[in-house]
Amino acid sequence: MVPSDWVVTIDGPAGAGKTTISRLLAERLGYRYLDTGALYRAVGLLSLEAGIQHDDDAGLEKLCRGLSFRFSDTDGDPRLLVNGRDVSDSIRSPQVSMMASRVSARPVVRRCLLDIQRNLGAGGGIVAEGRDMGTVVFPQAEIKFFLDADLETRARRRFRQLQEQSGGAESLEEIKRMIAVRDQNDSSRDLAPLRVADDAVVIDSSSLGIKQVVDKMIETINQHSLSRPS
Ligand code: C5P
Repeated sequence: MVPSDWVVTIDGPAGAGKTTISRLLAERLGYRYLDTGALYRAVGLLSLEAGIQHDDDAGLEKLCRGLSFRFSDTDGDPRLLVNGRDVSDSIRSPQVSMMASRVSARPVVRRCLLDIQRNLGAGGGIVAEGRDMGTVVFPQAEIKFFLDADLETRARRRFRQLQEQSGGAESLEEIKRMIAVRDQNDSSRDLAPLRVADDAVVIDSSSLGIKQVVDKMIETINQHSLSRPS
């Protein structure tokens, strides 16, 4: 039996399937689900709207400190409310993705979101997905996964997803280029870069289906819960 208060982290690059898989895993475990990318996306969206440049630290800090985040989930449809406004759809555009990646490299933004993420994860019973969940935000997490897939596969998945959501104006090649830029930003920044935590289980989902990945994770979690000291 898996304890009800564990923290499970899933880190990995864009398009590796973290969102879908984290949601399903949380559902199977009866856990909450925390999409930390959505928080960075919200900061990206609001700074674009307010005309704040990605390197304007004073402007970003002021913006960030004035935000209150609330996740809600009605009938399996997770929404993010920022200062009461539902931004769930507007944070998914490729422009917001790029801005999120840029502002997430700024220490003022990461510092501001760190406490918020830890508060949202308080009490455990959560699957938290992002780039630095296992390395920085929840280093004591009981189970850490790093979900990866090759660039081609990730670009194709993201392309399909954008087509389904909004008809997607970007070509597959453009999406691939943008993902490669985000990978480079996310793994080369000084603070909390994307990297595999020493104690993470790495899963390459390039040739695995969603259910296979979730089953593999459940198997790992079950093994871990059986081997823990009672
Ligand atoms: O996961 P998602 O693609 O929604 O994240 C959007 C951006 O937010 C990423 O490209 C990354 O730069 C940033 N991010 C981060 N740390 C996290 C989650 C997301 O830097 N924990």
